[in-house]
Amino acid sequence: AACEKPDVDAAVAAARRAFDSGPWTKMRPNERSRIIWKIGDLILKYTEELAQLESIDNGKPIAVARGADVVLAADIFHYMAGWATKIEGSVLDLSVHYTPGIEYQAFTRKEPIGVVAQIIPWNFPLLMAAWKLAPVLASGCVVVMKLAEETPMSGLFLAQIMQEAGVPDGVVNMLTGFGETCGAPLAAHPNVDKVAFTGSTEVGKLIVKAASNDLKKVTLELGGKSPNIILEDADLDVAIAGAAMGIFFNHGQACCAGSRLFVQEKIFDKVVAGIADIGKKIKLGPGLDPSTEMGPMVSQTQYDRVSGFLTSGREQGATALCGGKPVTGNGYFIEPTVLVNTNDQMKVVQEEIFGPVLTAMPFKNVDEELIRRANDSLYGLAAGIFTTNINKAHKIANRLKAGTVWVNCYNIFDASMPFGGYKQSGWGREMGHEVLKNYLETKSVCVSLGAAI
Ligand code: ADP
Repeated sequence: AACEKPDVDAAVAAARRAFDSGPWTKMRPNERSRIIWKIGDLILKYTEELAQLESIDNGKPIAVARGADVVLAADIFHYMAGWATKIEGSVLDLSVHYTPGIEYQAFTRKEPIGVVAQIIPWNFPLLMAAWKLAPVLASGCVVVMKLAEETPMSGLFLAQIMQEAGVPDGVVNMLTGFGETCGAPLAAHPNVDKVAFTGSTEVGKLIVKAASNDLKKVTLELGGKSPNIILEDADLDVAIAGAAMGIFFNHGQACCAGSRLFVQEKIFDKVVAGIADIGKKIKLGPGLDPSTEMGPMVSQTQYDRVSGFLTSGREQGATALCGGKPVTGNGYFIEPTVLVNTNDQMKVVQEEIFGPVLTAMPFKNVDEELIRRANDSLYGLAAGIFTTNINKAHKIANRLKAGTVWVNCYNIFDASMPFGGYKQSGWGREMGHEVLKNYLETKSVCVSLGAAI
């Protein structure tokens, strides 16, 4: 259950064997494609099992696990099954002219990078595993994945599904264990060619250090403190519901949560009251109870962390329009919270809370100041804009330093849409065909065509 260095060594050795001599790397792309597609089908077949595991392990409402996590996990496999047969290089007509009459032609090959180490967090355990594993399989790489210590169950079930779908032994290796004793030796392992990590910015920096010894390739999907901007011309029903979902979805335990709300002055009171109304009505409860709309925080640590932010917000002068405190008693419940009387310098506005806590600030004009404030974060993962003015929507979207900008919506994900961060929100992108770059090397093959025919 708590793998350590010897288990990491064994898993990496199995992956290396599978890459160097197993059937996987000899398979034709369409064979890989069929297996990857089948994983998607089996995920849907086992929806109920996966949703229950996810809900028990993470605390999220089972309806959300069923309708979002499982469906999106199946989707990325179906999407990536298509890419397995479409990985291609290009043919280049060279200009070099060293020897008169001798011509050269070159082509590029896209080759799997090799043994990949992947480390994932607990907020979307199945989905994070799926986002990471599907492109690895499409690219022809092999992988050792470390699941989050809080939530290993759906990942282990996914490993069984992969076996059932026909993934050969050694291609996907799952490790359960803790960060320092399992994740760290994996990220530093000399036989690993590439590390892909999703988690906190703090641990992301440790991963970079661990991987730097032998200059492994690294991609990172890290934290966020995403701005959500509502202009006075917005459709307020859409904007209020969108902003509430932007922060309360998955109990705010989402790296892209729209946690810094900027509302144009004239409509500020109405908007924040509307979001607080939604917050007050959200039914907290255990994930498996079908009437639950928001479950508990994932762990005592996370409960304490979010509670600490609520105290800090109060101490620095913020007021809560709804929520504002942890629920005492059974379970790690935190009330959905909307904080006003905040300013850009407060800890609750600057730091990632990873809980159902919205900080709301008014702004006067759509101008340089709004853009500057929205971009005033060490993160740059996502952003939202609510407006009915198409010109403003595009102009603001172009100016925001964020890997994803949602207009009149929030938290919309699709297997085809790249996701990842500017600034300290990460390196590289998940999903879309862009993610394949993370797992492929480019080889240029240069051929002398000799003298004239
Ligand atoms: P969170 O704040 O979401 O718990 P973390 O960044 O702490 O995010 O954890 C994300 C993943 O990184 C987990 O699987 C965790 O075990 C792992 N992890 C934590 N510390 C380290 C480390 N020093 N080296 C490698 N992995 C780590």
